[in-house]
Amino acid sequence: MSNLIIAKFGGTSVADFEAMSRCADIILANAAIRVVVVSASSGVTNLLVEITKTTNVTERYDAYAGIEAITLAVLNHLAQPEQVAQAIELLLAELKALIENGGAVYSSAHKDLIQSFGERLSSALFSQVLSERGAKAQCFDIRRVMRTDSRFGRAEPQVKQIAELAEVHLQPLIAEQRIVTQGFIGQDEFEQTTTLGRGGSDYSAALLAEALQADTVQIWTDVVGIFTTDPRLTDQARCIAEISFDEAAEMATFGAKVLHPATLIPAMRRNIAVFVGSSREPQAGGTWIAKEVQQRPPYRAIALRKSQTLITVKSPDMLHAAGFLARVFDILSRHQISVDLVTTSEISVALTLDEGGMTSAFSHAVEPALLELRAFCDVVVEQGLSLVAVIGNHLHSSKGITGELFQTLERINMRLICHGASKHNLCFLVQDADAPGVVKQLHSRLFSL
Ligand code: ASP
Ligand code: MG
Repeated sequence: MSNLIIAKFGGTSVADFEAMSRCADIILANAAIRVVVVSASSGVTNLLVEITKTTNVTERYDAYAGIEAITLAVLNHLAQPEQVAQAIELLLAELKALIENGGAVYSSAHKDLIQSFGERLSSALFSQVLSERGAKAQCFDIRRVMRTDSRFGRAEPQVKQIAELAEVHLQPLIAEQRIVTQGFIGQDEFEQTTTLGRGGSDYSAALLAEALQADTVQIWTDVVGIFTTDPRLTDQARCIAEISFDEAAEMATFGAKVLHPATLIPAMRRNIAVFVGSSREPQAGGTWIAKEVQQRPPYRAIALRKSQTLITVKSPDMLHAAGFLARVFDILSRHQISVDLVTTSEISVALTLDEGGMTSAFSHAVEPALLELRAFCDVVVEQGLSLVAVIGNHLHSSKGITGELFQTLERINMRLICHGASKHNLCFLVQDADAPGVVKQLHSRLFSL
C-alpha cells in the first residue's frame, strides 16, 4: 500500500485515558495511519518484570494490583466499557492464573508470556478509545505475524516470514480499518510468546513497516524528537529537524536513548523514513530520520555513555609477533564478548566492552576471558569511564576537529581516542566525573551559533 504510515505510541503516550485520547487525535488527523503499534502503559512492563523476578507471592500480587489499577482506570473512562470489558477481564484472569500457578521461579518462556500482558492490555483498551472517537478500528494479535526465534527475552525477528504472514493476515485488513496492535511481543514457531527485548516496540513498528512496505514509521514518545545532546547536560541542547540514517544509527549505538537501537535496521533496509515526535505536543515538530537529508553538517550531536570498562592488554612479545591481535580477539569472541572501541600500539591493545559497567552478570562473562588473556599477557581493567561520541559527517577527513577537541578539553584527562575509522563518529573516553562537563563544553564549542 503506498502512502502507508505505521504509528507507534510509547508507554507514556498510552499511560492513561487522557494520553490515549491525545494519540487518537494524532491518528484521526492522518488518514494514512492504518497501523498503530502500542507499548504497554507506562510502568506496566516494569511491574510485569517484577512479577517474574520475585519469588515472593505477596510481591507478585502487589505488582498485579498495580497493573490492574492502571488498566481499570482507563476502562472506567470509556463511554462503552462493555465493548472491551470481557477481553480485559480474560487477560487479567490469565495473568492472575500465571501468578497463582507460577511456582518459585518462572521459566524464560513464562517470563516472556507474562511480559506480553502489558501490550495486550493497552492495545485492547486503545482500540476501544479510537473506536469511540469514530474511527473504524480493530485490535489485532501481532503474534499471528511477528514470527521470531525462541530466544526468550531477546527474540530475533524472522523477517521473511513476518513479511509473508503480514501479507496474508494484516494487509487485507488495513484497507478497511485501522489496526491497533502490540509492540514488543512476538511468537516462535511453536506458538510460544516471545519478546524483542525492553523498549522493543519501536523495533516492532519498523519491522511491520518493512513487512507492509510502508513509507513512514512515526515514533510518538514523550520528547519532541532527537536532541543534539541530552538536554539534562546543557540547556543549549536542541532538537534536530533532520538526520541521516547513518548518523542516527551512531547516536543509538552510542547511547542516545530515543530509539531502540535496532529500529533503524528495517528502516534502512527498505528506505523507510522515521519520524520521532511528542504525542503531548505534536505541533512542536520532531525529528525526521531518512536516507537523504538536505544538510550534512560536520557536527550533528554528542552522545554520552557512562560506566564503560576499558581493558588494556599488553605483551612484550607483541613486537613483531604476528597473530597477537587475532589471539586476543579470538578469546573475546569465544566468550561472546563484543568489543566497542579499539586502539593499538606496538605492544598493547586497549579496548572497551559493549556493556554498561561491570554488572555481576557481565563480569561473570568477562572473568573467564580475562583469565585466558592473563595466561599470555598483562591485563589491566579500568572502570568508571565515560564514552563521549561526537557524531556528524566526514569526521574522518575534516580539518580541525581534533584541534577543536584538544583545545576544548585541555584540562581533561582523555583516556583513549578513536578517530578515523568512521566517517560519522569520533569517540573518546574520560572519567565518569568529568563527562557531563566535557559534553557541555564541547557542545557549546561545536554547536553555538
Ligand atoms: N513495554 C516494553 C518495555 O517497556 C516495550 C516498549 O515499551 O517498547 O520495555
Ligand atoms: Mg517504552
